[in-house]
Amino acid sequence: MPHILIVEDEAAIADTLIFALQGEGFTTTWLSLGQAALAHQRQTPADLIILDIGLPDITGFETCKQLRRFSEVPVMFLSARDGEIDRVVGLEIGADDYVVKPFSPREVAARVRAILKRVGPTAVPTVFQVDHERVQIGYRGQPLSLTRHEFRLLNCLLEQPERVFSREQLLDAVGVAADAGYERNIDSHIKSVRSKLRAVAPDAEPIQTHRGLGYSYSPGNS
Ligand code: CA
Repeated sequence: MPHILIVEDEAAIADTLIFALQGEGFTTTWLSLGQAALAHQRQTPADLIILDIGLPDITGFETCKQLRRFSEVPVMFLSARDGEIDRVVGLEIGADDYVVKPFSPREVAARVRAILKRVGPTAVPTVFQVDHERVQIGYRGQPLSLTRHEFRLLNCLLEQPERVFSREQLLDAVGVAADAGYERNIDSHIKSVRSKLRAVAPDAEPIQTHRGLGYSYSPGNS
C-alpha cells in the first residue's frame, strides 16, 4: 500500500485527509511540524507527502526545499491562500501539485492517486533503501541495524539482483582478506543479516543460498 505522509498542524484538516486517504486504501502518517517530517522521511520514506504551507516551525516551502536535497518524493502542497505567487513558488520549489483550503478530501485522494500513477515505477516503494552516506539500509520502510560488514555485504548483494556471489567475492566486498578461515565468516554474517530481515518480514527470503556456490539477492522473494 502506498504510504502518505501528511504534514498539517490543524488536526481537523489532518483527520479529514486521513479518513479520505485510508478509505482509498492508502496508509498514512500524520505529523504537524516540518522538521519532524524531514526526519521522518529520512528514516521511513513515504511515497508521497501532503505538505501544509503554514506550519508552526518552518514553512512548507522551506520543508520542501530541504526535502529536495535528499528526496524526490512527490509533494502536494496545501495552502490557505489561493495566490498565484504561491502556486508559482510551490511548483518551482519542486512540488507536484497544489490544493487550496478548503478542499474536498476526496479530490485530494484522487489527485494523490493520479500523481502516484504519473510518477510511475520510480514512486513504487522499493523494498530496500540504501543510504550510502549514512551507511544505512532500510527494508520495507524499517531501518536495519547493521554492522559495517553486514552493510557492505547486503549492499553488494542488492547492487546486482539475482547474481550469485561466491563467499570469496563477498569477503572481497566486505573488505576482509579472503583467507580460508574467513570464508565461514560470510555464513555467519549472512545468518545475522537474515535474522534482521526476518524481524521485519518473517515470510520473505530475499537472500538465497546456492549450495556450493554462494549467495544471491532475489527481489522476487523480498
Ligand atoms: Ca497550517
